[in-house]
Amino acid sequence: MQNVPNFRRAQRIQSLEISEIVQLSERAAYLRAEGQDIVALSTGEPDFPTPPHVVAAAHSAALAGKTKYPATLGTPELRDEIARQAGVSRARVIVSTGAKQVLANAMLATLDPGEEVIMPAPFWTSYSDIVLLASGTPVVLPCPVEDGFRLTAERLEAAITPRTRWLMLNSPCNPTGTNYSEADLRALAEVLRRYSQVQILIDEIYDQLSYVPFTSFATVAPDLSERTLIVNGVSKAYAMTGWRIGWGIGPAAMISAMGAVQGQSTSGASSVAQAAALAALSGPQEFLLERREVFRSRRDMVVARLNAMPGVTCSRPDGAFYVFPDIRRAMATNGFESCARFCEDLLEQVGLALVPGRAFGMPGHLRLSYAYSEAELLAGLDRLERFITHVRPAAQE
Ligand code: PMP
Repeated sequence: MQNVPNFRRAQRIQSLEISEIVQLSERAAYLRAEGQDIVALSTGEPDFPTPPHVVAAAHSAALAGKTKYPATLGTPELRDEIARQAGVSRARVIVSTGAKQVLANAMLATLDPGEEVIMPAPFWTSYSDIVLLASGTPVVLPCPVEDGFRLTAERLEAAITPRTRWLMLNSPCNPTGTNYSEADLRALAEVLRRYSQVQILIDEIYDQLSYVPFTSFATVAPDLSERTLIVNGVSKAYAMTGWRIGWGIGPAAMISAMGAVQGQSTSGASSVAQAAALAALSGPQEFLLERREVFRSRRDMVVARLNAMPGVTCSRPDGAFYVFPDIRRAMATNGFESCARFCEDLLEQVGLALVPGRAFGMPGHLRLSYAYSEAELLAGLDRLERFITHVRPAAQE
C-alpha cells in the first residue's frame, strides 16, 4: 500500500487494519479453496439457520413493496417494537446496519480528537478500531482471568480523567463470555455517578445467550439513563448475521446525533431486513431457549477438553459462545513467544483456525468460538491437542 503513487492514508486511519479475525478467516478460506482440510472455529456466527418465519416476513415485505428508502432512524414499526420491549419512547431508539454501525455512529457523533474511551480488555476487536476511526483514544484496561476478566470499580475509577468521554462495556463479553452480575454493575454505576462527563455504552448483543440470569445495566442504573446507550441486535440470538440489523437505545439527543451521522453515510438500514427483524422480535421465542441449551452443552464439552490439554487453562464462561483459554504454559513448553505466531502455525501445520488473544488486547490466550457443530468442535479440539503435544514452531525466514 505504501508504494502506490499518490495514495496516502488519512491520519485518522494510519493504524487501522482489516480485523485480525477477518484476515484469519480469509486465510482459512483460501487454504480450503486450495484443497486443504481446514477446521475453522474462528467466527462468532451461529451455525443455526435464520428461522423460517423470519425469512417469510422478509419475503412478504418485499412482495408488498416495502422496498423504498426507509426512514433514517428505522421503520416506525421496528422502532416501536424495540421501544415497547425496553419500556421507552420511540425517540430513544435508532436502528442501524448491525450493532457495529450503532457503535460507529455513537463514537463518530460524540468524540472530539483525543477524547478517551475506556474499554476493559479483553474486548471485541472492533472496539478500539472504531474509536480510532472516530479520532478518539482507546484507554485499554487489562482485566485478567483472576478477576474473572471483569472490570472492577477500582480499576474503572483509577482510569477516569477529565478527557474520558465513554466507558464501553460488553456483557456477556466477546471473547471471554464474562457476564456482569447485578452486583458488578451496581459497583460500576456507583463510580460512574461521580463522573458526569462519562457516557456509558453497554453492548448487550449476547443477552439471550446467557447461562446465568442476565442483568441489563438499564435496570440497575435507571438514574443514569440520560448518559447510557444500550446496544443490541438480531445477529447473534436470531442467527441473522447477514441481515445486518442492530439498534441503540439512549437519550433522544444522542440518538438524534447518531441519526445525523447515519443519514450522511448509509441512510436507514435495509427495509426488508427491518421487516425480518420485527418478525424475529415479535414472533415465537421458545427456540432461543432450545438453542441456548445446545450452546451450553457445547461449552461444557469444549471447556472440559481444553482443561485436559497440557499447559492450557480455561475458565467456564457464563455467556456468549466463546471460550478464551490461557495458553501461556503451552506456549512456553512448545517454544512459542507470541500467541499470534502460535495461531499462524496452528493453521499452517494442523489446519485449525483460532484467533490469537492479542486481537482482543490480551496476548497469551486463544479465542475459540463454539458456534459450530459438535463434529467440527471435536475435530478442532483433536487438532489443537495434537499441535500442543507434538508440534514445535516452524522455522521462519
Ligand atoms: N458487539 C459484539 C460484542 C460482537 O461480538 C459483535 C459481532 N461479532 C457485534 C457487536 C456486531 O454485531 P452486528 O452483526 O450486529 O454488527
